[in-house]
Amino acid sequence: MAMGRSVNNMSVALFGGTFNPVHHGHLRIAIELAELLEVDTLRMIPCALPPHREALTVSAEQRMCMLQAAIGGHPKLTADNIELRRDGPSYTIDTLRQIRAQIGSQVPLHLCLGIDVLNTLDSWHHWQQLTDYCHLIISARPDYHLPEHGVLAEWINQHRRDNLEQLKQTSAGKLYVCDTSLLAISSTDIRDRISRGNAIDFLTPTAVVNYIQQHHLYE
Ligand code: ATP
Repeated sequence: MAMGRSVNNMSVALFGGTFNPVHHGHLRIAIELAELLEVDTLRMIPCALPPHREALTVSAEQRMCMLQAAIGGHPKLTADNIELRRDGPSYTIDTLRQIRAQIGSQVPLHLCLGIDVLNTLDSWHHWQQLTDYCHLIISARPDYHLPEHGVLAEWINQHRRDNLEQLKQTSAGKLYVCDTSLLAISSTDIRDRISRGNAIDFLTPTAVVNYIQQHHLYE
């Protein structure tokens, strides 16, 4: 470890998704989360075989290529293929265990999820153990709200803390809801536009638009 680095700069932040395709909603939130969490880089992790999604027409490798093209040389973001290197369905708990084994028990590990994803968290493999390995950092998204009733709502209330600075001083165990920008862009909308023959310019970086056109994706 280099001398003079603050504790926060050692933290690791992950932002998983299908990224089918990646868009400016993902990228803008990723930058804001990297700044908020004060991490050197935020690792964007495409999932391999999404257990909750329909079979995808675009390969994991193509989603990864689009993510790399979108990020380009941005200093705060990296594309991490950790889930593509594993066989079988990509369970987040396995990714967290793998990363925790690499970084040790003391380093703060943040898993960033959109509020839409949080709302389905109780369908995830070993979901209540996620906070054994990391903090959950929840970003806003238009038209989604925190659940108000049920087991998931109770679990969120138990783990939720409002002081991000306190959370950054510990390695795992808490949930923080942050106030990031609201951009009404989704991959579903991008795929629908392409299938209708409409333009997707300015919804995702030009490099991604070009990749999609060259490979005739989502047509
Ligand atoms: P789809 O439309 O196919 O469901 P998506 O646009 O929701 O895709 P995902 O790859 O499923 O994209 O999302 C990955 C992560 O990014 C999730 O945590 C999701 O909440 C978040 N996210 C996606 N779009 C936005 C957005 N516009 N604003 C904030 N967060 C977003």
